[in-house]
Amino acid sequence: MKRDRRGRRTLRPGLLARMARRRADDALRLSAERYALAAKGSNDGLWDWNLTTGEIYFSERWKAMLGFEDHELPNAVDSWFGRVHPDDRPELEALLSLHLEGQTPHLEAEYRICDESGAYRWMIGRGMAVRHPDGRAYRIAGSQTDVSERKMAVAELIQNAFHDALTGLPNRLLFMDRLTSAANRAHRKPGSLFAVLFIDLDRFKSVNDTFGHAAGDAVLITIAQRLEASLRPGDTVARLGGDEFTILIEELADSADAVRIAERIGSETAAPMTFGEHEIATTASIGVAVNTNGADRAEDLLRDADMAMYRAKKLGKARYEVCDHDMHERAHEILSLERDLRYAIERDQLHVVYQPIVSIPTGKVAGFEALTRWDHPSRGAVDASVFIPMAERGGFVRAIGNWMRREAFLTVARWHSRFPNGGNPFLTVNVSGEELAQADFPIKLIEAVEESRIDPACIRLEVTETAIIRNLEGAANAMQLLASNKIRFAIDDFGTGYSSFTYLQRFPIDTLKIDRTFVSGMLESEESFRIVEMIVLLANVLKKASVAEGVETAEQLDALRTLGCGHAQGFLFSQGVSASRIEAALEDGNSWEHLVR
Ligand code: C2E
Ligand code: CA
Ligand code: CA
Repeated sequence: MKRDRRGRRTLRPGLLARMARRRADDALRLSAERYALAAKGSNDGLWDWNLTTGEIYFSERWKAMLGFEDHELPNAVDSWFGRVHPDDRPELEALLSLHLEGQTPHLEAEYRICDESGAYRWMIGRGMAVRHPDGRAYRIAGSQTDVSERKMAVAELIQNAFHDALTGLPNRLLFMDRLTSAANRAHRKPGSLFAVLFIDLDRFKSVNDTFGHAAGDAVLITIAQRLEASLRPGDTVARLGGDEFTILIEELADSADAVRIAERIGSETAAPMTFGEHEIATTASIGVAVNTNGADRAEDLLRDADMAMYRAKKLGKARYEVCDHDMHERAHEILSLERDLRYAIERDQLHVVYQPIVSIPTGKVAGFEALTRWDHPSRGAVDASVFIPMAERGGFVRAIGNWMRREAFLTVARWHSRFPNGGNPFLTVNVSGEELAQADFPIKLIEAVEESRIDPACIRLEVTETAIIRNLEGAANAMQLLASNKIRFAIDDFGTGYSSFTYLQRFPIDTLKIDRTFVSGMLESEESFRIVEMIVLLANVLKKASVAEGVETAEQLDALRTLGCGHAQGFLFSQGVSASRIEAALEDGNSWEHLVR
């Protein structure tokens, strides 16, 4: 034993190498024993390859997994690599050399290998090299596991998850995936066209009912085959469910291409089919949407095709319809209007108009209904019948309601103090169902009343029957609380809802407003006349006020007077008028009456 300059013990280089080799041999012997044990017990095939001599050993099991007896397959590298699927071999070889070069801790590769019958089986090959001290591999051994069944199970899972069991066609999930990819591709390549066809069989239910479900299934399978056969390889046919199919066609030359395909599919689906002694004929309604409409998102396109299909059904079935530009424009217009509406308050685009309500016996203005108007920068005045439902859907009708009531309360309070001889007209304001359902609605309203110093007794809140019925408990509480603060209620559009006696008595209701549709039809339709008569009678019996809405002619007014209706409101007298116009008229010394014809 030698010592180095610092006195540590050193070994001669030859000895070092010998010791290393012995350690390796020991390891090898151990591993050989382990290997023998493993080879017997394992379900996997084992292999051991001497890289110096090129000899390779395969366990009996390794060969049996491929369907060979031990003697039937020579112990040669070609027995393995020569049987690997040509598509998988380059990767297997690459992974092997990576590991032999020492770049990976072990070998693991998945590949197909040809068995005795000529069929390919999926295998995972694992291995680990034994190396010289300098790192060079001189031997590698490992195992081969048959994963064909697992692979097949996974493939089946994928097939089931993305395909329809009856027809084998892609299902909605896969279709949407392909459609999304097509949309993304088109996005990258402006001007490229693709189309969605939505196909719904006509009267399919009656096939099921008449011939039974087995025949129904057979029809679906036949249609699926016809659709597939009529398309080019790259296109996708899917079954969305029931008797609904969709087709994705890519790389259209022009949108007329899609129409030609729809025509062809229409005639091909209509060809009669025979099942046993039955001959069954079906037709299809087809909707076509091409990405030229500005709809280039997958869902939008599918929806457009669906809507067009629906139109084809309505127009008589067995035909196709193309999603037209106008249809799309309209949808777009509504959306952009809704966006604008969100900012209408802060941009100062809303204002309130006041429509006079006239006492029928005296002909004098008794009050006003406040109606909100929207001055749209490019569309001009938009009626509440257009934008209030929009605000309700968009969830911001409360903001509009709060704004308009403060505005209207302040205005009417000003009128009362400036024109004390006007008889203090009452003010009615509309409350939407959304607002009535809010817990803080009464508090907010009372606050607005106090702020504006309007006399609460002159306020009527107009609520609809639907708003009350939808939330009986909440509405009752809110209305009682407000009524105890002297505020009164009118039922708007009376007659169109439930017209139930129960709530008329239980709730603090002061006025019934007869819906416009009955008033405008009362002289033409006996039924409308009877309804108006009934409501007036009901109001008089229950000692409530009645207001007829939408009075447009003197004849209607006469009829209402005869029936004993208390008030009238409508274009016969006046439309909604701005506060400034009303005030200007009053300043000129005119009375309230002057406001109406
Ligand atoms: P409504 O309560 O039935 O209001 C009367 C509607 O009928 C008003 O339309 C009015 O302009 C219209 N009208 C009045 N007289 C006549 C007539 O003689 N003939 C015809 N054809 N129409 C007449 P508008 O302003 O478009 O309001 C529509 C609905 O929107 C209202 O129906 C009301 O329910 C709601 N609304 C209006 N302003 C507001 C508001 O500020 N808040 C809430 N929540 N709803 C409002
Ligand atoms: Ca109203
Ligand atoms: Ca009404």
